[in-house]
Amino acid sequence: MSNVLVVEDESAIAELISINLRHAGYDVTIATNADQAQLVVDRVLPDLVLLDWMLPGQSGLQLAKRWRADARTRELPVIMLTARNEEGDKINGLDAGADDYLTKPFSTKELMARMRALLRRKAPEALDSAVEVAGLRLDPATRRVTRRLGEEMREIKIGPTEFRLLHFLMTHPERVHSRAQLLDRVWGDHVFIEERTVDVHVKRLRESLLPVQCSALIETVRGAGYRLTQQIGSVAA
Ligand code: CA
Repeated sequence: MSNVLVVEDESAIAELISINLRHAGYDVTIATNADQAQLVVDRVLPDLVLLDWMLPGQSGLQLAKRWRADARTRELPVIMLTARNEEGDKINGLDAGADDYLTKPFSTKELMARMRALLRRKAPEALDSAVEVAGLRLDPATRRVTRRLGEEMREIKIGPTEFRLLHFLMTHPERVHSRAQLLDRVWGDHVFIEERTVDVHVKRLRESLLPVQCSALIETVRGAGYRLTQQIGSVAA
């Protein structure tokens, strides 16, 4: 399930958006100003932020700029919501680091379509689409991980945390992820969980992948973190 942070000071609009999002299966948190939004993000990184431009105090525009300047929030998917519809405002919003821009009033259908497009681009692990890497297939909808071995389709047994970890790695292959980044994106907590926890679950994940000969997919990058590599033959098991 995807976590969406709605930053909007007009409670009627915030409520309407969150009812629609919850109905569509999203988990929603509402913040009514920039400080509150920052507190939410400091605790757990959302999968996507709907950010109103006009907020009391610090504006949505300033908040987007602040997030883009911080390594931890640089990649955070942000859709800016605004009552303005001047071309110059749109350009300012995108320059500040918003990934997309919606002018109020907008239809729920359009909002959902933009959100899905942005998630596909920046956080595919937040979507329910099945993903396949090197013959290994993970389906979030059925929570199954399978691999064809000869004529046989084999399913592996995997714990919930290992499933999320594998899902994240499979949707971001070939990139090195530090332990802190994995805690943020997979556990949703980079503050209270020790980085050693990541190592424990990577070990379990490799063990789960052993019966389908895929444990070598998960590569340790010394001093940097972990990566899922599709060049399965090139890595020692
Ligand atoms: Ca507003």
